[in-house]
Amino acid sequence: DVFYRELPKVELHAHLNGSVSFETIEKLIGRKPHLNIEHGMTAIGKGQRRTLDECFQVFKVIHQLVDTEEDILMVATDVIKEFAADGVKYLELRSTPREEKSTGLTKKRYIETVIKAIQQCKSEGVDIDVRFLVAIDRRNGTEVAVETVKLAKEFMLSSDGLVVGIDLSGDPTDRTGLAENVSFVVGHGKDLLPALQMAKNCGLKLSLHLSEIQSQLEESDLLLDLPPDRIGHGTFLHPEVGGSQSVFDKVVKNNIPLELCLTSNVKGQTVPCYSKHHFKYWYQLGHPSVICTDDKGVFCTDLSQEYQLAASTFGLSREAVWELSQQAIDCIFAPDAVKQQLKQKWIDLKPQVF
Ligand code: IMP
Repeated sequence: DVFYRELPKVELHAHLNGSVSFETIEKLIGRKPHLNIEHGMTAIGKGQRRTLDECFQVFKVIHQLVDTEEDILMVATDVIKEFAADGVKYLELRSTPREEKSTGLTKKRYIETVIKAIQQCKSEGVDIDVRFLVAIDRRNGTEVAVETVKLAKEFMLSSDGLVVGIDLSGDPTDRTGLAENVSFVVGHGKDLLPALQMAKNCGLKLSLHLSEIQSQLEESDLLLDLPPDRIGHGTFLHPEVGGSQSVFDKVVKNNIPLELCLTSNVKGQTVPCYSKHHFKYWYQLGHPSVICTDDKGVFCTDLSQEYQLAASTFGLSREAVWELSQQAIDCIFAPDAVKQQLKQKWIDLKPQVF
């Protein structure tokens, strides 16, 4: 539907390597035929469902395909242009800096390359304001989290405002650890709390994946005391799905916006069906709820489709959809001046869209 494509949109929850389109995957496969990767291994198509754990296997395949600076530059540039073509006017991309010994890629170069892609798109006049959140993979433990925050801080000061915050993500079902020397149980937020506190103290904004699965309530309770600036998913935070009063109160009292990804949660089976998605609960409560894609490539979607899906599932009028996209502006991590610019853009575009 052309309305949803023309609707100006804000995307706040997009993992770079989960956002890689079919076309870009084809190009990557062409660069690395020896890996024998087929497209079916990098995306979850219409009507398909996987366990959350299986979804995370998909990222491992994509990471094999994206392991040089040139790959990252291409992937980031393509993803930014695709979001722009879908009517996204402001995008916060997030990605976990990776080191690849075999190609000489370092975490620092990784971040620099994403920034370069953002700057290139800007100089080409692509109509989208892009910012970057440096991601911490929870499975990598305390030391990597601290190292990541230090890097993010450096870039926050040197990137002309492009690096605005930290994301905490990674497979919440995996407790075995990624690093070779990790022999203890990893991935619990309590081990990451000092790094996150440090990030907050130096002015980085925090978007944390909280309660994606049911067993994370204790962790959510702890991390909500920071408090984070936004919450990713938050599937099991409200009382109807077993969330505690304490957790619920912290979210509501601090008015912490939720980044909600319908297709991702249904395909990843943390939510049984669209009509039972927690968007309904939080939206009806009047709590700031932002529709996002999560991983548009892996889950074969885009932000217009997600808005359309929310509208058809929950019976939202076009006016309500407009308000939903407009209210997302208040949840961005860029400074107030950027919010004001975006609000003006929405006002200017409204007559064209309706
Ligand atoms: P990257 O950080 O750009 O490499 O994007 C892929 C990574 O994002 C994955 O390896 C996960 O760490 C993270 N990710 C993507 N989707 C999800 C999700 O739904 N929950 C938690 N982490 C996710």
